[in-house]
Amino acid sequence: MPKPLFITLLIATPIVLAGVSRNGWVGVLGLLLIILANPIIWILRKNRYFNSDEFQRLRSETAAVVVEHNEVVNYVAEIRSEGSFELGTSSTGQHAHLATFQNTSAWNNRRDRNVAEYAPHVHNASLQVVRNASMEPIKYMMKYFSIKADQETLADVQRVAEDVSRLEEAVSNVQRREAEIVAMINPPAFILKRYAAEFWALVGVNLSPITVPYPKYTFQYVSAGGNSGQSADIRLDTPTLDALSQVLVEKIRWAKSAAGQRALMTASLRTWIKTRDHHACKTCGVSVAKEPHLLLEVDHIHPVSKGGLSVPENLQTLCWRCNRSKGAKALA
Ligand SMILES: [Zn+2]
Repeated sequence: MPKPLFITLLIATPIVLAGVSRNGWVGVLGLLLIILANPIIWILRKNRYFNSDEFQRLRSETAAVVVEHNEVVNYVAEIRSEGSFELGTSSTGQHAHLATFQNTSAWNNRRDRNVAEYAPHVHNASLQVVRNASMEPIKYMMKYFSIKADQETLADVQRVAEDVSRLEEAVSNVQRREAEIVAMINPPAFILKRYAAEFWALVGVNLSPITVPYPKYTFQYVSAGGNSGQSADIRLDTPTLDALSQVLVEKIRWAKSAAGQRALMTASLRTWIKTRDHHACKTCGVSVAKEPHLLLEVDHIHPVSKGGLSVPENLQTLCWRCNRSKGAKALA
């Protein structure tokens, strides 16, 4: 039995019984309550809406938008499967910078609260280190997870940053497209509240199950008895990855070289390139002005894997369609 129906019956039945036995109007009130709160009413309303001419008309009007949305969803899946979202996974740099921690304490077996996780990317530390790590995340992450300040690591961080930001933008593009479809159809509130899955299925939208798999580094403190604990999480999102790149560059002492500074790919450089290119694709010319939900990406004309640099002369704005077919050609 569905929960709302059960609760309704639970509340309404005594009222009805009491009403019927004493005064008639309480019973009527109880019956009314049952009818109003009854899920069958919602199902009838829902079916009436989905079968309405208006919904059918809007559904066919949004068909083209839905097709494009679903294609971008597939593109998100491609970015997710081709990209790397973990530091130290490149073929060039196998940085095994995962702190391994062996807990030999017999106490561990008896802990039932705040049990420390001995998983990759989790560093079990003193309370002081956990606090310091939350104040200076980049410094402590580099130190305790052995992220070396060398050019190989920087290239690795830049690669992950590129894939993370690409996926971030594609995922948020899909969300904006879904919001647009909702705005175009404008269903009654109860439809999205109660029958969202059915709504999306009828409209033909494939919802993307993909979120950005940010690499995460955790500093964790658990007291000896396991009764208290604190942790500091560092999520490698675009701002954190940009900051990490910046710190690495400074440590590598490229800071003094203008070429070294310019070679950094950052969120602000990507934004700058898109603005320079007037938010239009350099290959096919489609622009945000023409297609408000256009997904634009920044492409290395000469690929990084072949020695191309992240300098404005080597960067161009491409729409996702052109970038996708360029990538497909490069793989072929
Ligand atoms: Zn294009």
